[in-house]
Amino acid sequence: MSVSTAASTQTVCAPLAVLGRDVTVPLVTGGEVTYAALDYAASAPALQRVWDDVAAYAPYYGSVHRGAGYLSQLSTDLFENARRTVAEFLDCRTGDQVVFTRSTTDSLNLLAGALPAGCEVFVFETEHHASLLPWKDARVTYLDAPRTPRQAVETLERALADRDPYGPALVCVTGASNVTGELWPVRELAAAAHAHGARIVLDAAQLAPHHPVSVRDLDVDWVAFSGHKLYAPFGSGVLAGRADWLREAEPYLAGGGASRRVTRRADGGVDVEWHDSAARHEAGSPNVIGAYSIASACKALTEAGFDALVARELHLIDTVRAGLAEVPEVRILSLFGDDAPRVGVISFVVEGWNSSHFAAALSAEYGIGVRDGLFCAHPLVRTLLGSDPGSQGECGAPEAAPGEKSLNAIRVSFGAGT
Ligand code: PLP
Repeated sequence: MSVSTAASTQTVCAPLAVLGRDVTVPLVTGGEVTYAALDYAASAPALQRVWDDVAAYAPYYGSVHRGAGYLSQLSTDLFENARRTVAEFLDCRTGDQVVFTRSTTDSLNLLAGALPAGCEVFVFETEHHASLLPWKDARVTYLDAPRTPRQAVETLERALADRDPYGPALVCVTGASNVTGELWPVRELAAAAHAHGARIVLDAAQLAPHHPVSVRDLDVDWVAFSGHKLYAPFGSGVLAGRADWLREAEPYLAGGGASRRVTRRADGGVDVEWHDSAARHEAGSPNVIGAYSIASACKALTEAGFDALVARELHLIDTVRAGLAEVPEVRILSLFGDDAPRVGVISFVVEGWNSSHFAAALSAEYGIGVRDGLFCAHPLVRTLLGSDPGSQGECGAPEAAPGEKSLNAIRVSFGAGT
């Protein structure tokens, strides 16, 4: 594909084949149109390759971990190989664990349950609720929204300088914002955290589908991401990183698979020896297809090459932003400014329009699927809009009367399959 912009003409890679590309949807104005999926930040369409891999595996489906039969062993191998593929995809260190979870939210809640006693948590108010809220049992310091990446690092350094340097601490930060698409200075934040004896977990839900994530290079302690944003189906996620806190914690779920040995005590009770491996936090029959799908997506992205995918996405970002800039009523939301490096996630408001109505019209009249609301990042969106809290559902869309200042925003998001 050849893409022209005012500045240059260059050849970039074709989109990866995704499901649903040819789906047609009815329009209120009559007729139908090919659906334009521009809500990748919520859930990206699954790659055709992932679907094909799952279909090829389906006839060999068997129980995992405990079955002696051939198909059980095959399923167990696929599940454990998926762990290795994800570890490679994330460039994990020797000894890191890869735990399969249900999602980023699940991964961060798992880690929240594994914090050592007295652990302090530092988190920017700009985070997605999945990163903002799981730390309810810890002492949490919420950091104000920075206006530059440098300010983010300085804000964190100041906050960490005041803490007890001998106690455990965790910083939780997103790699790419699900509202502005802006990249956060993860490596610098990790360095600041470590310089003050704290650890850091990277919420890579929006970063991993767009950029390579190297645990080693970024020097983060843990990474969390979701399969359904990485072109795999719903229902699976990953928490990868240091084994020690995970090994010492109570299992996320108690049950079979997490326990190595269970014995009845003389006093009638039960003693349990839990696994030290990732299985400790994966009680119950695991989501083998979910893990296998994530691994398949990781391989597909790696084979396509992130350099090519990033180059193509940058063209799409420039094209969308340039188009939006031609509409005087549009205001693009940004924390770090126009020149900040970003992924394909762009939120905006249209002056004089209720964002919910605008988004509904895009769907009904043009077949374009976007998201409206506060994107599960209420404090950030309110900061960006400069608006008072409206009444709204958890991730929902507060209503502004026609002509009133918008209390919510519109988000277009896209990626390797667009
Ligand atoms: N973190 C970020 C930055 C996100 O954008 C999202 C989802 O939108 C999440 C975490 C939560 O992901 P999930 O809903 O898959 O748990």
